[in-house]
Amino acid sequence: MKKINIAIDGPASSGKSTVAKIIAKKLGFIYTDTGAMYRSVTYLALKHQVSLDDEQALVSLILRFPITFKQGSEQQLVFVDDQDVTKEIRMPEVTKNVSKVAAYKLVREQLVKQQQAIAKDGGVVMDGRDIGTVVLPDAQVKIFLVASVEERARRRHKENLEKGIPSDFEELKVAIEKRDYYDSHRENSPLVQAVDAVSIDTTGMSIDEVVQAIINLVNDENSAKK
Ligand code: C5P
Repeated sequence: MKKINIAIDGPASSGKSTVAKIIAKKLGFIYTDTGAMYRSVTYLALKHQVSLDDEQALVSLILRFPITFKQGSEQQLVFVDDQDVTKEIRMPEVTKNVSKVAAYKLVREQLVKQQQAIAKDGGVVMDGRDIGTVVLPDAQVKIFLVASVEERARRRHKENLEKGIPSDFEELKVAIEKRDYYDSHRENSPLVQAVDAVSIDTTGMSIDEVVQAIINLVNDENSAKK
């Protein structure tokens, strides 16, 4: 029986990647972080001094430098052209500019094609902004994760402090709100909940509770298929 695909969308820092990784591990599925792909293009542009206003040049970067995921001993690693960029793509400079890069139609077309190829045989948990609406409209389980801005900024702040990254709660809140606004108001594939997605408000929920809620939906789907 072909495995299902699971699409997890939602705004910045809503916990998508944390729960997606756990679910993929539990089910033996492949985890795909599509945000990492948009971040990789942004990183490449900054590194090669390609103007973020030049859509065609950004597409050329995608064609020239393949983006791949590899399983490391502790976490999934992101490579561009054989360089491990897992850490670099989380730098503030990349985070600040990624929404601009992700708003381009041609950039999205290229990356969506790659994302669809990864998921073509099923067994994928993919997180992003347009997975349930555009990338995998036929995904059998679609989740839209939300949480209050305060809660998301609090989580990110705690994570930064734990990693020893300097962090300012108020600044984080403003940056998250700004990125959400940009992602939700762009012309191409804006962040919206798919009509057939199940929305989960994770404010006040533990990671385990969110994971369990999604696993229950997966089990329901698998029972319905039998
Ligand atoms: O998920 P993450 O926060 O790392 O994503 C970084 C940015 O990439 C988002 O703010 C958004 O602009 C873009 N993105 C997107 N579509 C996706 C995944 C991410 O536009 N499927």
